Amino acid sequence: MKSVIAIDGPAGAGKSTIAKKLAKKFNYRYLDTGAMYRAVTWYVINNDIDISNNKKLSEIASNINISFKTDNNGETYIYVNDNNVTNKIRENIIDKNVSDVAKISGVRKEMVKIQKRIAENGKIIVDGRDIASRVLPDAELKIYLTASVEERARRRHNELIEKGISSDFEKVKEEIEKRDSIDKNRKDSPLIKTDDAVLVDSTNLSIEEVVDKISSLIKEGD
Ligand code: C5P
Repeated sequence: MKSVIAIDGPAGAGKSTIAKKLAKKFNYRYLDTGAMYRAVTWYVINNDIDISNNKKLSEIASNINISFKTDNNGETYIYVNDNNVTNKIRENIIDKNVSDVAKISGVRKEMVKIQKRIAENGKIIVDGRDIASRVLPDAELKIYLTASVEERARRRHNELIEKGISSDFEKVKEEIEKRDSIDKNRKDSPLIKTDDAVLVDSTNLSIEEVVDKISSLIKEGD
């Protein structure tokens, strides 16, 4: 059984949904690295800090305390210092700003340090953008999970509607494209598919089909 699994891919490809299901199935831990960049972004916005001040943002990333806590029902919450920001980091204002925070090298350095430490003991599924290329280059299984931008936008749009939040499909699509573009074009650890990663295109696959496919790869060689 492979113990350290990296899942990278663009926004809205279903990484966290799939990673959570896999973690439950194999009784592994799940690390959502995107939530950490979102948490830094929440802190920056909440404290009215100039988002273009790289030096200040790098300092913040090294000084704030980002932690995950899991309750008795297995629900995981993310904290910045003493604030439970689990829901706040999913707001649209965070979506809009997170990639500009995540492109700052000083911020990435701090996050990667924490991520490597969390993953140390294995039995973990880690999702993000640079897991295979930078955080866990020795991961035993690397997945690049993607889907067409239309499909990713459609899923996100439906999710918002289901939650009772008004949503405009074209706007959702535009925001996803913009975020992908910043993530793919930044200098420090851009989103890429590494040569050793398995490409999984979920455009025409159900969640269960993706989970089954990756599950077989986790078990392969046993
Ligand atoms: O995965 P999620 O969409 O929540 O990630 C939010 C943002 O955090 C991404 O668009 C990207 O800018 C950043 N991120 C990153 N590296 C990671 C995970 C996320 O740069 N490993």
